[in-house]
Amino acid sequence: MDNFFTVIIILGALLLVASLKTTVKVCKKTSQRAWSVLLFAIIFFIIGYWWILYYFSNHDIAPVVMNMVAMLLLGGGGFVFLVIKLSLKSILKIEQATQYQKYQTEHDNLTTLPNRDKFFKSLSKQVEYPSPFSLFYIDLNNFKQINDAFGHQCGDQLLAAFANKLNKELCGIAKLYRIGGDEFAFLLHTDTDESMNYCVNIINSAVKSPFCTNEQMVKIQLSIGVSRFPDDSRLPDQLLKKADLALHEAKKTFQPLVNYSSAIGKRAEDFFDLSAKIKVALHKDEFELYLQPIMDSKDLQLHGLEALIRWPQDDGSFISPEKFITVAERTGLIFPLSKWVVQEAVNHIRKLKLFGFTGTIHVNLSTKDIESSEFYDFIISLLATDPTLSDSLIFEITEGAMMTNIPAARKMMQQLSMRGFKFSVDDFGTGFSSLSLLRELPINQIKIDQSFVKDMLTNSPDYAIVESTLFLASRLNCDVVAEGIETKEVEQALLSLNCDYLQGYLYSKPINIDEFINVYLSAEKVS
Ligand code: C2E
Ligand code: MG
Ligand code: MG
Repeated sequence: MDNFFTVIIILGALLLVASLKTTVKVCKKTSQRAWSVLLFAIIFFIIGYWWILYYFSNHDIAPVVMNMVAMLLLGGGGFVFLVIKLSLKSILKIEQATQYQKYQTEHDNLTTLPNRDKFFKSLSKQVEYPSPFSLFYIDLNNFKQINDAFGHQCGDQLLAAFANKLNKELCGIAKLYRIGGDEFAFLLHTDTDESMNYCVNIINSAVKSPFCTNEQMVKIQLSIGVSRFPDDSRLPDQLLKKADLALHEAKKTFQPLVNYSSAIGKRAEDFFDLSAKIKVALHKDEFELYLQPIMDSKDLQLHGLEALIRWPQDDGSFISPEKFITVAERTGLIFPLSKWVVQEAVNHIRKLKLFGFTGTIHVNLSTKDIESSEFYDFIISLLATDPTLSDSLIFEITEGAMMTNIPAARKMMQQLSMRGFKFSVDDFGTGFSSLSLLRELPINQIKIDQSFVKDMLTNSPDYAIVESTLFLASRLNCDVVAEGIETKEVEQALLSLNCDYLQGYLYSKPINIDEFINVYLSAEKVS
């Protein structure tokens, strides 16, 4: 047997041994049966090699045949080696791509923190163990305003910087997750008051100094809601929901941190009940629109009226509009509700005109209405059917609502005022609007809030506010309505201050349209 034959056979066998190693690696990575079959084939192949080597060395075979066989076997070994190597490379690439994809689906691009799905998985795992823990739900206060004021790029930078800082501060204590938008969460694996306080201090220290983004220094304030396992719930979605409710409570009551309690849960339940009831009431047309007269101070005769929604209950009582409008605003039901109010006000105007009414009807709008382009389109569609509508409707927007979203208020007010509608600032004095804002918005009227009017004769600061509002309004060319007048004395004081219009229980409480026609328009009744 010549040396060439031996070397080639050994080379071929070594290639197969190397393939064997690679095939074992592949077998470990995939569960496909074919690879195990290949593994056994290679082992047989190697055994075959050694058998041929043994057979050829003990028999007298022509060297040309031996070398041909050796070359063929080397070729076969090389082929197997290459195919398996390349297969492993592809499998590794696919594995890497899958891992990257998994990372992407479980992490947030902006902050690189694990995301809501990952958080929920880890929460679901955690509730399988008996040890108590607390779920911290964090939200940045006024992040929307920061975005609006400094731009989205700055908002993104701020979120990333905050996430990075808090994540570092929490290192070794808890793992931070980005739940969505400006919301973050983590699990603290203890629920003792000391460790909770320690954790809160850490969070506060992360936002102590302002963040620098786009050369802007932005100070962050947080609201935190906390729920506890197992006291508040043993279910992951309930724990998250309860921490979220506690967070909303923190925001609503301007507290930095609120622990979930059954009282909060009860309020939330009532909230959802009321929201469901509003939906049904809208569907069943249970709402009514009451009217309260607005008197002209020149002759104390009817000038206009304010439309106020009423929701009568089976027992004869009414649910306060302030209560259900807040719920409607938070559940998106305000739009159908406001649409109903405006449509009903339009119907009322038509009816009142038949009885000789020539004044205006004031309709209250909510913050959400002025943010909705759909609502604007609805008003414009009404104008298309009755072009004189803008002469009869005045929209009241509370000062607070205007301040909540100034750009939206400005846009909506400017667009509607170009179509002839007028605006009145409701509850003036309670919303801290700036004087420059009053100048730049198309405001035709100011309604002094009843809290100042009511006590203006006994409380000198209230009197001063009423007096200076009247002075300011005359300078801004706005009319003034004083609301909440209940006594002749207050009426007299307002008349001597030249207040344009007067509204309050002294003249009438809000009443339904038939009563209104009877009391104020029956003399002018047309058949
Ligand atoms: P508002 O627009 O400032 O309406 C005036 C509120 O003061 C009305 O309460 C009215 O009944 C009450 N009021 C009027 N004169 C007097 C008075 O002399 N003394 C006292 N104590 N109260 C007086 P109401 O109807 O309960 O409405 C409360 C608030 O709910 C309204 O304040 C308004 O912000 C909102 N609201 C009422 N109806 C609607 C509506 O149709 N749409 C929207 N978006 N909000 C509405
Ligand atoms: Mg009003
Ligand atoms: Mg008011």
